[in-house]
Amino acid sequence: VLPQVVIIGRPNVGKSTLFNRLVGRKLALVDDQPGVTRDRRIGDVSLARMRFQIIDTAGWEDEDEATLPGRMRNQTEASLVGAQGALFVIDSRAGLTPLDEEIGRWLRAQKVPVVLVVNKVEGRSGQDGIIESYSLGLGEPVAISAEHGEGMADLFEALQPIV
Ligand code: GDP
Ligand code: MG
Repeated sequence: VLPQVVIIGRPNVGKSTLFNRLVGRKLALVDDQPGVTRDRRIGDVSLARMRFQIIDTAGWEDEDEATLPGRMRNQTEASLVGAQGALFVIDSRAGLTPLDEEIGRWLRAQKVPVVLVVNKVEGRSGQDGIIESYSLGLGEPVAISAEHGEGMADLFEALQPIV
């Protein structure tokens, strides 16, 4: 049984892009659990001596953010059951939203280790978002560009003590 790491974050921060980047073409399966976790995708990641499963959660993309938090919280809590860790992804360009802050608060109250991932950092763009992210109280962020594959070595380093 491989350790599992869950990707968490509000819609459009780049969770699925990161999932695809980590899994490459070896996409494993789609597992629908209506009412609890919709469109949960699980993929195997192997790099050097690390082997783990990564879980992408989705299904809220088309909904109004104002009504999301309660239902997203259920999904988030369900997805963390049995997981060794979480990647909490935020969007460095959009800046922190109230939903990011709420998810950050839930995650701080969970027992699993959380790696704060600031996505969409390309060149200078996104630097303000990195600085802002410290206010979530989740430690030092890992800056990445999931789309361009930047920051992946730092991300693996942050995951090493977890998986
Ligand atoms: P999800 O809803 O969190 O799964 O987000 P997606 O992976 O679907 O990405 C949402 C949007 O952000 C898409 O238009 C992506 O192309 C874009 N995106 C994802 N990662 C990056 C990144 O590293 N840099 C930039 N500039 N855009 C990104
Ligand atoms: Mg997605």
